[in-house]
Amino acid sequence: MKRGAFADVPLTMLIPGLSPAGVESLKDAARAVDAARAIATGAEWEWALDHAIFAGPQPGTPVILGLDVIEHAHGSDQLEFLLQVVWTDLGRLAVDAAVNVACWCDTDHATHDVDAFSLAVDDLAMLPQAFRAGAERLIGWLADPHDADYWRAKAGLPARQPG
Ligand SMILES: [Zn+2]
Repeated sequence: MKRGAFADVPLTMLIPGLSPAGVESLKDAARAVDAARAIATGAEWEWALDHAIFAGPQPGTPVILGLDVIEHAHGSDQLEFLLQVVWTDLGRLAVDAAVNVACWCDTDHATHDVDAFSLAVDDLAMLPQAFRAGAERLIGWLADPHDADYWRAKAGLPARQPG
């Protein structure tokens, strides 16, 4: 994974076949996300050129391009906002977005997705629209409290235990 500003993402190498208008559309959506996350720290765009071409089903989800906004609310706690362009097992593109939090259940699940968005992209021409929809969802989440307990309560999960 390479990391940096969206302006550094080699979009036409990463997503071969993306039209010039598509490139501009992705840049516009990314600019809106960057503006919304201005107060968040530790967030950078990530991309993997070795995922530009679908290499068949793999363990885990091959992420082509993504943004991971991590908020460490309190010490060991975690709140993370994600926006990703990925390959599905079927070799189709999808745009995924999620909010995940550290787990404080009696049984340790590590993390929980407390809200999630996924849009399959059957045709590359639909990618800009799907990316924009994912970006809008992420921007909406970033306007909500950056407090993991807020998100756990909303999802009916146990709150962080002191100590
Ligand atoms: Zn749990």
